[in-house]
Amino acid sequence: MTQVTEHGGGVWSIRVPIPDNPLGHTLVHLLDTDRGPVLIDTGWDDAESWDTLVAGLDACGVSMTELHGMVITHHHPDHHGLSGKVREASGAWIAMHAADTEVVRRTREQTGGRWADYLVDRLAAAGAPAEHLAPLVTARDGGRLRTVPGLDAALPDRDITPGDLLDLPGRRLRAIWTPGHTPGHVCLHLEEEHPAALPGRGRLFSGDHLLPEISPHIGLYEDPADATGAADPLGDYLDSLERIGRLGVAEVLPAHQYAFTDSAARVRALLDHHEARLRDLLLLLAEPLTLWQITERMEWNRPWDRIPYGSKNIAVSEAEAHLRRLVKLGDVETVPGSDPLRYQAV
Ligand SMILES: [Zn+2]
Ligand SMILES: [Zn+2]
Repeated sequence: MTQVTEHGGGVWSIRVPIPDNPLGHTLVHLLDTDRGPVLIDTGWDDAESWDTLVAGLDACGVSMTELHGMVITHHHPDHHGLSGKVREASGAWIAMHAADTEVVRRTREQTGGRWADYLVDRLAAAGAPAEHLAPLVTARDGGRLRTVPGLDAALPDRDITPGDLLDLPGRRLRAIWTPGHTPGHVCLHLEEEHPAALPGRGRLFSGDHLLPEISPHIGLYEDPADATGAADPLGDYLDSLERIGRLGVAEVLPAHQYAFTDSAARVRALLDHHEARLRDLLLLLAEPLTLWQITERMEWNRPWDRIPYGSKNIAVSEAEAHLRRLVKLGDVETVPGSDPLRYQAV
C-alpha cells in the first residue's frame, strides 16, 4: 500500500481518493500531539475515500476513536467532506476559519433554487448568450439545481484564529490566514525544526493555497448575499502568497500532489503567472468588452469552444476575479450606461 507517507517528526500524509476528479487525491495529514493525533483536512465524502482514510490511519498505528481534532484548511468538499463522519466516529472537534464556516452555514441553509437564480443572474449580467443560459434555466425551472455539494457539510466546533498557535499540546502549529482560494482559507505553520534538518523555518501545511504544479482556482467568493462587489479575491490571494513566501519554510506539505521544498520559487512563479494574466487582460481591454467576451478571449488550457459547459462557468468567475483586481487598481473602468456592463482600460 502506498497510501501513507511518513514525513518525520510525528507527521504523516494519507492519499485519500477524490472520485471522478482529475485532481485524483487529497493529502490528508496526520499530526501527533500530546493529547492524541489530529487530522489536517479529511477528504471527500465517499465510501472509498472513507475506507482509505480508515486504512491509512491504521497504517499509522492510529484508530479513528483516538483522534483528538480536525484542523480544516478550507471548506471545499475535498478537504472538509468527511469531517462530519470522522466527528461522529471519534468525538473529535472540527476547527475552521470563521469566514469559511460562514460559507458552510450559508450552503446548508440554501433552499428553493437560490443558488441557481444567483448563477443565472450572474451569467446574464456577464453577457452570456441565450444559448449558454438556456440549459441552466431549464434545469432551474425543473427543480434540478436545488441541491448543491456541501449541503450537509459539518458545522465546525471551533474557530481558527489567524496568527494564533492552535491549542495542540506538545506542538507549535500557527494559523496563517490566506484568503483567495476561499475567503477563510488558512495555511498552518509547524514552527518546529525540520526532522531532516532542512534549512528554513519549519514546515507549512499549505492546503490549496500553494501547490507544486497547480495554480489554484481564484474566482469570486460566490456569496449570493454580497451584491456590493467589494470582495477582491485575487488581490487577497496575491497578498497572502507574498506573506507565505516571506515565511521561508523548509518544506511545504500541500493538500494535493506532493511535498516540495523551494517555496520561494513557487510563490514567485504563481505571482508571475497572475501578473502576466493581468497584463494580457489589460491589453484585451483596449476595446470595451463584456465579462463574457473577456472570458472567451482569455487564454485557457484549451480553445474556448472545447471547454466543457460547467468549466466555462468557472472560467467566467476566474476572469471576473482578474477583472475586479484591475478595477480596484484603477486600470479598468466600466462603460457608463452599457447593458450588459462593458469594461475598458483607462
Ligand atoms: Zn479548494
Ligand atoms: Zn483541494
